[in-house]
Amino acid sequence: MVATPAPLLAPIGLTVAPAAGCAGGVRERCVVAEPTLWIGADWNPEQWPRDVWRTDVELMVRAGVNLATVGVFSWSSLEPRPDEWRIDWLVDVLDLLHEHGVRADLATPTASPPPWLARLWPETSAVTAEGVRLSPFSRNHFCPTSAVYRERCAAVVQALLDRCAGHPAVALWHVGNEFGQTCFCDSCAAAFRVWLRERYGDLDGLNRAWGTAVWSQGVGDWDDVLPPRAAPYLHNPAQLLDFRRFASDAQLELFRAQRDQIRSVDATTPVTTNFMGFFAGVDYRRWARELDLVSDDSYPDPSRADAVVDSAMSSDLMRSLGGDRGWMLMEQAASTVNFRPHNAAKSPARLRREVFQAVARGARGLCWFQWHQAAQGPERFHSALLPAAGTDTRHHRMVAALGTELAGLPDLGEVPRAEVALLFDWPSWWAGTQRDLPSDRLDPLAQLRRWYRVCWQRGVLTDVLGSGDALDGVRLLLAPSAVLLDDATVARLRAWVRDGGHLWFGPFASAVDETTRLRQGPFPSGFADLLGVRGEEWHPLPDDQLDPDADPSRSADPDRSALSLSKRRQSTVALVPTDLGAGLPRGRADIWAEWLEVDSADVWARFQGGPADGGPAVLTSAAGAGRVGLVSTVPDAALLDAVLGRALDLARVAVPPAVPDVERVVRGGLTFLINHGQEVRTVPVPGATTDLLSGTRYRDAVELHADEVRVLTKEEV
Ligand SMILES: [Zn+2]
Repeated sequence: MVATPAPLLAPIGLTVAPAAGCAGGVRERCVVAEPTLWIGADWNPEQWPRDVWRTDVELMVRAGVNLATVGVFSWSSLEPRPDEWRIDWLVDVLDLLHEHGVRADLATPTASPPPWLARLWPETSAVTAEGVRLSPFSRNHFCPTSAVYRERCAAVVQALLDRCAGHPAVALWHVGNEFGQTCFCDSCAAAFRVWLRERYGDLDGLNRAWGTAVWSQGVGDWDDVLPPRAAPYLHNPAQLLDFRRFASDAQLELFRAQRDQIRSVDATTPVTTNFMGFFAGVDYRRWARELDLVSDDSYPDPSRADAVVDSAMSSDLMRSLGGDRGWMLMEQAASTVNFRPHNAAKSPARLRREVFQAVARGARGLCWFQWHQAAQGPERFHSALLPAAGTDTRHHRMVAALGTELAGLPDLGEVPRAEVALLFDWPSWWAGTQRDLPSDRLDPLAQLRRWYRVCWQRGVLTDVLGSGDALDGVRLLLAPSAVLLDDATVARLRAWVRDGGHLWFGPFASAVDETTRLRQGPFPSGFADLLGVRGEEWHPLPDDQLDPDADPSRSADPDRSALSLSKRRQSTVALVPTDLGAGLPRGRADIWAEWLEVDSADVWARFQGGPADGGPAVLTSAAGAGRVGLVSTVPDAALLDAVLGRALDLARVAVPPAVPDVERVVRGGLTFLINHGQEVRTVPVPGATTDLLSGTRYRDAVELHADEVRVLTKEEV
């Protein structure tokens, strides 16, 4: 017997007093009434006996914590059996936080449905592309389009709202957790068809967009359409791309439903959900506009010294997504995590560097996962602010000191809009990682990181913008991996260049349109005339000989042996500067070359050797009042730095003096300096400044030892 609960999505018209610190009535007012920085952590009191709770909160206060995220995975504690509500404990938790002056980021518990949901309604559990229905006793196993799942979500959210909305502790609502579930079940297939009908109108439109004349895939009935389930060979690329878009939108619909349910009761408290940086599962650019506050989970790998560049890029993405609303670092690790095969510990000094990096790049809150290290469950080996070893520990002392240090920062103000932006769109990322491309080595994210690194090392603040974002104030737009550009974007970028913008492409640019259709004519399509070049062929570089360590005899087909592929050596070719590129270093390139015929472009460097021997590799042309450039390969870091350095100069971007390993960001009136290296560095900073962290005064230059951080304020003359 399956009981279907009544829909609970209709507004119930409660009048709720605004939370303390919130002027009420207008959401923006609530956002303003914040501490200088939110400092906080996930806290899961349902995992602990009550006598631990008060000690936990008292220790939070001593560590400077002013925000606790509660309830994220608490569904079975709130509703142990269908419609059997146990909300009192959570109200007690909110009361306890309020009593100690700690605000709550109250989560809806819908990311991890209780086991009874899967038992009573198996269709609420997601199905993989291989047809396997996922089981509970993990988390995030739900099907996003299941009507029953959505009804039960509405019920538990309503129970939460009935008791907790308007509680003075609640400063922020947190919907679900780390959305990213993709499901291939029949319900999702039906929803996919509805989504496609809205996008294409009729079957003719769908067949045209998907190119279904290829391989006899013509769709004669909407019921023929399926998600890209397990298949014998390559999938239809347009189907793959549309299913990614659909999966993102289907999950966004879940978020919206809960957000609107919350707003119908509590119109003033902001609503967020936690992103995961450059995460491929959903298109955060479409999501960001639906959030009152963008928040992010960031877990750079401490075993990689250069992961601090990746975390800076993630912060810049979040700042760009958040815009005027800002962004919050919702989760980070105090030390080790538990989800990699081998989890290096993070030193206290590194944690401090990462925290100040996020602050410098615009974060309005610094939170951790989690407050009290779990004793049970899969995350018991994930570090926490309060470790299992207790309070008399190096990490806990460091965290408490860091909280005090952060709480002492003045009003930080906003990070100025950057003059340089990276172009990054999720659909292009998805299109650039499909299996049917000329190479699987031209990874879009890796290319983005390579180009971002140049700006980071040069101390140039960089936004990460989508093709629909305004380019006001941007002088230089870098598009290291723009495989997919839609027609409107091509037209807009052409006009932007003619009006004075400088646009540089990486390899394999503008290859396909929004349906993954191969663009016709010379490439980079839509820009070849502006560049004065005609691209004819993409040339992935051949591999050198097999590594002698590899043993092809272990596979019947050495060409397809994963072993032999992994042991192959990617060949490199030389890149030689031309007279116009005089001053650039000689370099090498790998992975990719392009065969380009030059009509009028200025060629800065040519290939020497390889399939495009003698052909142009780096070229640029003035176009209208602006400029367009192309780096048609993957140059080594030194040559890429030199090329993009010239692009920065030509675009008249202000570039501070570069100091190796030192990250320099200006936020508000403060200059943040972070030494990520192990050498003592001296950074030129004109005038008289004072470090807010140490009180040290400087004139014209600041010395930083390894791992040191400075937050400099200008002294009045
Ligand atoms: Zn499904």
